[in-house]
Amino acid sequence: MKNSDSFIKGLTPSQRIEIDACTQCGECLGCCPVQQVTQNPAISPPEKIRMFREFIKATDSLKAKLLGADEIDRKLLEDFTRAIFECTTCGACGRSCAVGIHTQRLWPMLRKEMVRRGLGPIGPQKEMPAVIRKTGNPYNKPADERYSPWFPEGIAVAEKASIAYYAGCTGAYEAQPMVKGDVLVLHAIGDPFTMLPPEEEVCCGFPLFITGQHDMLEDLVKRLVESYRARDVRTLVCSCPCCVNIMARDWPVYYGKELPFRIRHITQVVSDAFAAGRLKIEQELKERLIYHDPCYLSRGVGITEEPRSVLRSIPGIELLEFDSNRLESRCCGAGGAARKVFHENATAMGRMTIDEAVRKKADKLVLSCPACYGKVNEAMQDHDRKVPIVDIMELVASLLGKG
Ligand code: SF4
Ligand code: SF4
Repeated sequence: MKNSDSFIKGLTPSQRIEIDACTQCGECLGCCPVQQVTQNPAISPPEKIRMFREFIKATDSLKAKLLGADEIDRKLLEDFTRAIFECTTCGACGRSCAVGIHTQRLWPMLRKEMVRRGLGPIGPQKEMPAVIRKTGNPYNKPADERYSPWFPEGIAVAEKASIAYYAGCTGAYEAQPMVKGDVLVLHAIGDPFTMLPPEEEVCCGFPLFITGQHDMLEDLVKRLVESYRARDVRTLVCSCPCCVNIMARDWPVYYGKELPFRIRHITQVVSDAFAAGRLKIEQELKERLIYHDPCYLSRGVGITEEPRSVLRSIPGIELLEFDSNRLESRCCGAGGAARKVFHENATAMGRMTIDEAVRKKADKLVLSCPACYGKVNEAMQDHDRKVPIVDIMELVASLLGKG
């Protein structure tokens, strides 16, 4: 593809309007965590939009149509590609955007455009399609290790059931206390639930979607949806915010019609169970807990109160808040598949989360995302401030049946 080929072909009409709508007002500048830790203005939302507009001007303006498109300097394209992939797609800029640009959806589409032009993705992200095709997950791990190291003994999974649990690749391979906690709590609620065999529970597609590599998505989604449909599933439960996000927002598009089941985040199921008296924690926990809202759970699908409701079901706790919380939460550094490429940024952002939890004298930092869980734990290594980290269901599971 030539550098002078159209830049707007792959964008929806509303995304073209969004790019046009940015007033360069700078309202969003203060909230970008990547800019904060890198001090690199190229990453800022208005700068990314300004650059993309220049590309559109060179290839799609009236002048370009009448006199021919300008060839764009490759270095400029490479710099833009780096900026768009260094962003964690946390969406905080969109939340504060004066004209309402939905950046958490726009940035992945600009990434897709740079992939289409052969410039992205970056580093190991390029291997993902081949690795997922071979193993079913982006971590290049064998399918038969997906559940075996963590699945709690003595818990039976139904062959067919109206509820299914999807563990997800990041939880199953990189945040095992979290998925173990999910299964223990679902079991404690008491409704039968099913799970796909490990070789059938393939990637939800989010890592491919977010790195702009969309070719395999339809195939993955159809395989998963048909497998759950064959098991008579009516509710699919998952704890990973990125999985929940793509399932709820994009699976119907790739499936081609409405899904035959609804998608629920585990905190929705568990807060309902506490409210209905189907779960109860007797033991008091005299601790100050601080809960971090994952970007794709809060800004992505609007789930902010259910995790807090679950935590308030623990007698004795004091619930603290980060200065930026709920829809304004600050990215922990793990988002947008950037953590495996831009390690230093991700570590610096993770440490900002740890530092605020320590400053607020939290006894525990509670997370609800496998990517946050892995990254914030990693950021704590060799860091001078420490706070115990726990996943929300890991915590609930540890308290059930005690007292
Ligand atoms: S999505 Fe997050 S990381 Fe990316 S530009 Fe916006 S605030 Fe910065
Ligand atoms: S707040 Fe919105 S309109 Fe203003 S500079 Fe940022 S992206 Fe552009």
